[in-house]
Amino acid sequence: MKALGVGLIGTGYMGKCHALAWNNVSAIFGDVERPRLVHLAEANADLAQARAREFGFARATADWRDLLADPEVDVISVTTPNQFHADMAIAALEAGKHVWCEKPMAPAFADAERMLNAAFSAGRIAIMGYNYIQNPVIRHIRTLLDEGAIGTVNHVRVEMDEDFMADPEALFYWKSEASAGYGALDDFAVHPLSLLWCLFGHVEAVIADLSKPYPDRPTRDGGRRAVENHDTASVLMRLPGNVSGVLMASRAAWGRKGRIALQIYGSKGSILFDQERMNEFQIYRTDGRATEQGYATVLTAPHHKPYDRFIPAPGHGLGFNDLKVIECRELIAAVAGMSFHAIDFAQGLRIEKTVHAMARSFRDRRWVEIAA
Ligand code: NAD
Repeated sequence: MKALGVGLIGTGYMGKCHALAWNNVSAIFGDVERPRLVHLAEANADLAQARAREFGFARATADWRDLLADPEVDVISVTTPNQFHADMAIAALEAGKHVWCEKPMAPAFADAERMLNAAFSAGRIAIMGYNYIQNPVIRHIRTLLDEGAIGTVNHVRVEMDEDFMADPEALFYWKSEASAGYGALDDFAVHPLSLLWCLFGHVEAVIADLSKPYPDRPTRDGGRRAVENHDTASVLMRLPGNVSGVLMASRAAWGRKGRIALQIYGSKGSILFDQERMNEFQIYRTDGRATEQGYATVLTAPHHKPYDRFIPAPGHGLGFNDLKVIECRELIAAVAGMSFHAIDFAQGLRIEKTVHAMARSFRDRRWVEIAA
């Protein structure tokens, strides 16, 4: 697969993660030409220059629109806060670039729809940064479900929890602004929804409760500012195949650092997974002798593809950033016209539709059906 010229907008947490992926994808997978790191944009020129040096980009700018006019840029990573995604992704697509955009698509549903329309009109590849579906464990669970390893699935629970907003005195920042979206829904619930899509298909109906544990937070200038969205969500769901589901999300759950815990119950067994222990899963099967029944813990190994591309030895484990490298490889495959495993803007819009249905359900205090 041919070398792509890369543009990167934003160099914070996710920007660095994308940069690492672009830097490593060729060495890890071997079947892609090394991408050319062409042009990087940050909010100010000094930071842009510093990051370009650290990440290995040839050019740096404080105006992200410079990337659109750069003929050497084929694909743009959008890793800025949520409220900028629509403008940046749409402009990139209109300039003929492929797009790799961080989740969620956009706080306003109409903007997310415009993003999908722009991708269709441009005929360019546009995928979302739903990295957790790239875990070899999740891919393997999908295979197990397809093979009927735990029979017919009837119930699934998924919880996403972290504690970066658990302290009532944690500083107010952009994630608590209404402009960032609904909070726990756009920030967190979208990730479990990406996993559910990957394993079962899109959610069909929801009833949700949202809450705001702390009404305000301190600001850098010594004042306080009202929190404008919700930090926790509790949702009941209907999934395809008569599967009932529960989704819980909290950004204020002390002790939880990167929990995305899945429990899948079927007619012949169950499967457990937690992103905090991302290199293993548990499986319980009803076949075999009753005296030895119990959960078996399976560690990832080279036969859980594409683990083998990273490490030849079993049980040594991948890390969070490796999921982005796999996602990057899927994007490059998509650009090359090959089959790929990632959430494109069409599937991404369906996830947006689901979180907006959750918000509506909370507002109206009722179940909400989600049209296909
Ligand atoms: P961050 O605050 O760490 O980084 C954002 C960066 O964007 C900052 O460096 C900021 O200076 C830069 N920026 C802001 N406006 C800009 C502009 N006009 N031009 C150029 N740069 C600009 O934020 P983050 O945690 O990296 O989150 C960014 C996005 O990634 C969010 O949409 C978030 O939801 C998503 N995210 C995804 C995951 C995941 O697992 N996929 C994890 C965390 C965050």
